[in-house]
Amino acid sequence: MAYTFQSLPQLVDKREGLRENGEYSKRTKTITHRVWHHSLTKKNLSGSDAASFAHYHVETLGWPGIGYTFVIEPKNVVQTPKGPRARIVWCHDIDRRTYHVGNSNQFSLGICVAGDYRYDKLDDATLASIAELHAALVKDGIGKYDRSHNEMPGYSWKECCVYDYRKAISWQGSVTPSKPAALPDYYTIQEGDTFWSIAHKDGAGGVTVEDLIAANPGVDPRNLKVGQVIKLGKAKNAYTPKPNTPKKPQSAYKYPLPSGILKRGSRGTGVKQLQNALNAVNFKCGNVDGIYGPKTEDAVRRFQKVYLPYEVDGIYGPNTRKKLQAVLKSKGY
Ligand SMILES: [Zn+2]
Repeated sequence: MAYTFQSLPQLVDKREGLRENGEYSKRTKTITHRVWHHSLTKKNLSGSDAASFAHYHVETLGWPGIGYTFVIEPKNVVQTPKGPRARIVWCHDIDRRTYHVGNSNQFSLGICVAGDYRYDKLDDATLASIAELHAALVKDGIGKYDRSHNEMPGYSWKECCVYDYRKAISWQGSVTPSKPAALPDYYTIQEGDTFWSIAHKDGAGGVTVEDLIAANPGVDPRNLKVGQVIKLGKAKNAYTPKPNTPKKPQSAYKYPLPSGILKRGSRGTGVKQLQNALNAVNFKCGNVDGIYGPKTEDAVRRFQKVYLPYEVDGIYGPNTRKKLQAVLKSKGY
């Protein structure tokens, strides 16, 4: 089967010919994410191309091959019937789990635009290639969501991709500019979904994990079932207060939550409040004794695994508090 992207005149197939040392394994998951990177090498440097990145990834990092499936090379301009285009290098079969976003590699396709966009600017030939590759991938059904590297779990600190990929993929010169679909009212659970991942699929829609918790009281986030339907668009603002809404004081709640940081060794009323709240939402921590011991720490950890999967440290702080408040709210407290 030929892919639509193969008909792009600026595409070169280098699945054979780039530096390799072995073979990436096959993906065990369907691609859901197209992840956009830049190379952090200035775009006009001689080393700003797929061949150099492959060399670096294999020889220095010890990887089986280049970490991206596609590399767009602004310094190599190809004349096409539609005008000048940055060359697109196809580096791996689509089903190869290459290394570019850690835990998310299984379901993410890596696309790198050569350049350092802290300093470089996207030129028209590059924008056109980004938009046309994107449109082709959409047509080929490869991935559903576009994300920059630093929008993927665990990478918020990365200066990647820096350029505005959303603007680039819908560049006006594109033959089929694509817009992200509107947020659906309901969402059907897919394999591997968590409330966290669902909330973060929706970059622009503004639905938070707290909203999902509050709007779906009958759903146990610890046990999401494939095919289960939850409120998504309809969850908006279920928890997140609209701007300028006055906050209720904690004393108004049945289970007031302490502020600040509580952790192993903490003692006092705040710990008691936390223990009461954890027990109320079925993250059992044993006797309410006001001592933050191993059972309380374990309950906080179990809670974080469900609601804050990237911040599991057994320490109660502002983020855990916010999630706990939302869960209490969803239970009617
Ligand atoms: Zn990156």
